[in-house]
Order: sequence, then C-alpha cells, then structure tokens
Amino acid sequence: MSKVENVYLVGVIPGPKEPSLTEPNNYIRPLINVFLFSWMRGHHFSRSASNETLARIVRSAIAIVVNDLPGACCLAQMASHMSHHICTICLLYGKEKLGDKNYHSWQKLNNHMMRASAMKWRDATNENGRKDIFDNYGVRWSELW
Ligand SMILES: [Zn+2]
Repeated sequence: MSKVENVYLVGVIPGPKEPSLTEPNNYIRPLINVFLFSWMRGHHFSRSASNETLARIVRSAIAIVVNDLPGACCLAQMASHMSHHICTICLLYGKEKLGDKNYHSWQKLNNHMMRASAMKWRDATNENGRKDIFDNYGVRWSELW
C-alpha cells in the first residue's frame, strides 16, 4: 500500500503548452542525477525523526512514475499511442492491429533492445539517423533510460 509520506512531487512542467518532443529531458535530467547519486553513493543523514542519535545512509530510487498514457509516452520518449507503435508494452505495430484480439501472439517489447535503440537515437549523428531509429523502434532517448 502506498504511503503519502513516500510520495514525492518533484515538480510541475509549466504550460500553457506541453513541452516539445525531447524537452521533458531538460526537466527530469537534474532529478535523475540526484537519484543516481543517491543510488550509487547514498545520502548520509546524521539522525532521523524517530532516532536523533542513529546516523544512516539512505539510498533512493525511482520505483514507478505515474502518468496518463500521453504523459508516459512523453516522459519515456516512446511513440504516441496514436502512431503505428500502438503499444508501449508489446511489439504490436500498425493501427490495423487495434482490433487484434489474439493476445497470446503478442510479443513483449524487449527492454534491453528499447534501451539500446534509445541510446542509438541519442548517439545518432544526424536527424535522418534519428528518424530511422524512431520509425523502426518508436523510441527516442529519455533520461529515464
Ligand atoms: Zn501491447
């Protein structure tokens, strides 16, 4: 069960328009850096609310990010559910597959392949290369990767 004391509202991306395609990375990069530091080295607390003499190292991680579907695609830099990459979980491709109920044939996206594709997108040297990667895999670089 989630506890409100474990919920951490980092910020709200200002409007009035939603950020451009890769702009969310600019907002989450500083946050990722804080969590990366915390996970790798930990944060030292000289005391806690329940014990004023017991120092401890605390490590933090992002366990889950909660968004609506457009927000999730935006943060993860995945193709929109309105594109031919109709799902962020499986390899189902093409809007004509929207009525496909043969669930057992759907193959899960491979997380390692998606991360590798996102890294290729990040490291591509030109926009045509990035477009090819996005068209084929439906992913761009996100700081969450
Ligand atoms: Zn799916």
